[in-house]
Formats: sequence, C-alpha cells, structure tokens
Amino acid sequence: LFAGLEELRDLPALTPDGFRIKLYANTGLMADISPGLKHGAEGVGLYRSEIPFMEHDHFPTEEQQLQTYRQVLKAYAGKPVTIRTLDIGGDKLLPYFRFSEENPYLGWRGIRFTLDNRPIFMTQLRAFLRAAEGLHNLKILLPMVSRVDELEAFMQLLDDACAQLDGEGIDIEKPPVGIMVEVPAAVNLLPFLAKRIDFVSIGSNDLAQYLLALDRNNSRVSHMFDNLHPAMLREVYRIVTECRKFDLPLSLCGEMAADPLAVVLLLGMRIEALSMSAYSLPKIKWLIRTLPAEVAEQTLQEALLLEHENLVRDLVKRVL
Ligand code: PEP
Ligand code: MG
Repeated sequence: LFAGLEELRDLPALTPDGFRIKLYANTGLMADISPGLKHGAEGVGLYRSEIPFMEHDHFPTEEQQLQTYRQVLKAYAGKPVTIRTLDIGGDKLLPYFRFSEENPYLGWRGIRFTLDNRPIFMTQLRAFLRAAEGLHNLKILLPMVSRVDELEAFMQLLDDACAQLDGEGIDIEKPPVGIMVEVPAAVNLLPFLAKRIDFVSIGSNDLAQYLLALDRNNSRVSHMFDNLHPAMLREVYRIVTECRKFDLPLSLCGEMAADPLAVVLLLGMRIEALSMSAYSLPKIKWLIRTLPAEVAEQTLQEALLLEHENLVRDLVKRVL
C-alpha cells in the first residue's frame, strides 16, 4: 500500500468525477521541507514561523530570519509558500521571552502580540520581503485575527516595511496577505475583512477550541473535542460558503485536513485546498482520487442533519 501511495506523488488530487483540490504541506522545521516535496505538496499552506524562533535563545535577527525563510521559499520555487507571522502565546512560549497570564488562550496571542511588539514584527516583515526577492512565491498569513483594525494596523506596517526596503534599494514586491480564520469573531467579520485580504486559511484546531470552549489538553473535557461536532461542521461550512460569496481563495490547515472522515465532508463542501503534515498527503490524496465529490456532497447534506458527532462519524464510516 505504501509503495502504491508513493506513486501518487505526481498525480493531481482529482476526484473520479473531476473535482480538483490543491494539497499543501504544513511546515516550520527545515527537516519538513524534503518530505513535503517528496510527497507531492503543491506548495506550503502553513509555515509556522514561531518554530524557528523557538530554536534560538534570543529573538533571531533579520539576517538569521532571512536565511531561514529563503531556504523554504527557494526549495518551493515556483510554488506558493504561505508564511504565517509569529504566533506565540497560548501554549507556545519562547524560552527567552516568558510571560504568564491567567487565561493564556484568551490573552496575548498571534497578531495581538506582534502588533504590541512592533520592532519584532517589523524585523520579521523585512526578513519575509527580503527573503522573497526574485522568487515571487511568498504569501503572508496572519494568526488569531479577531478585529478589523488589526488588519488595518498590519497593512500600514507592511506598507512601511515596503517603503523602507524600497528606500534601501532592495527590489521587493508586496505579497498577497491572508488571515487565519480560527477565532469565531473572524467568521462573523468576514464581510468586512473580505475586501481587505487576498485569501483565507481555516485554522481548525483553534477554531474548534474557541467555538466549543474546549481545551483539548485538559483531560477532563478533551474527549468532547471533535472536528466532527455538528457546530464545527456548520461553522466550517459557513466559512466555505462566505468565502465563495466573496470570491476569496480558501484553504484549511488544521488537523482536520488530515482526518479522512473530515476530508469526506470538506470535499462535500467543495473546499478548494487543504494543508497538512507532509506524511498525511499521500493518504488524503488517495482518498480524494477514490471518492466522487458528488457522493461526498450527498454525505455532507445527510451529516448536516445529525445532532451528534458519533452519528456523523458512523455515517461517514459507512460511506467510506
Ligand atoms: C490551527 O489553529 O488550526 C492552526 C493550524 O494553527 P496552530 O495549530 O499552529 O495554532
Ligand atoms: Mg492556530
């Protein structure tokens, strides 16, 4: 079976009835680059930039960051590489910048942290833009957006970074900017956010956590954390529908993208792209190439009528 999956590398993720999904790799470690390419990733859907920050004992300099990002952008030359700005806070803390909060998941996370620490943000943006020089494959992704003004502040900062580099004679181009939709507030704000962004990526891990009010690392409640929870399915379907309405390219980059049962339903929603760990790519591509989108769509319609995740799971298992 494994050999069979490997042979899929150069074949498109195309259903038997002709629906095409793009498959991207999640990465952050240099060691993840070649598995992604080996398994046929069409680009990087999520580069978690906090991972290289965790490998240092100080904030990496612009030069250090530039080298790291450039390696990924070069390895995937000709294919899109979506680099997410620093997403620390919650359970992701840097050993050299510790802070403690009573409710860390509701606190200083993602873009909230970087907007409050402008020099760190500016250094990272300059490194992004310089790393992409001549390659034209960078896309910037913003984590934990929950307000329109965060996006406005970011766009100003990006303009400033572009102007600075331009003034230094560095030939940069302004990359597409997208947001992670992982806080329920962002779902409600999509009509306002849509005109300011170029794409959306659903962060299903955090979206489920905030939608279901569940910490999956808390053993008392973690058994209820489930991507097939009816509220989660409805939320994701709503995002897919809204993005289609606003003509916004959409991908999903949380663990849900690597769960075959969830992928059946995402295929039923006609999601256009999924991003996952490189090692899950062959299995998910095999599934997409096996299951007609029309069958997935019927399954989704039935699943949306079910009140419990176990019923959803049973239904999809039967179809599979
Ligand atoms: C997510 O929240 O689904 C996601 C992909 O981001 P992270 O797991 O890095 O928070
Ligand atoms: Mg997240």
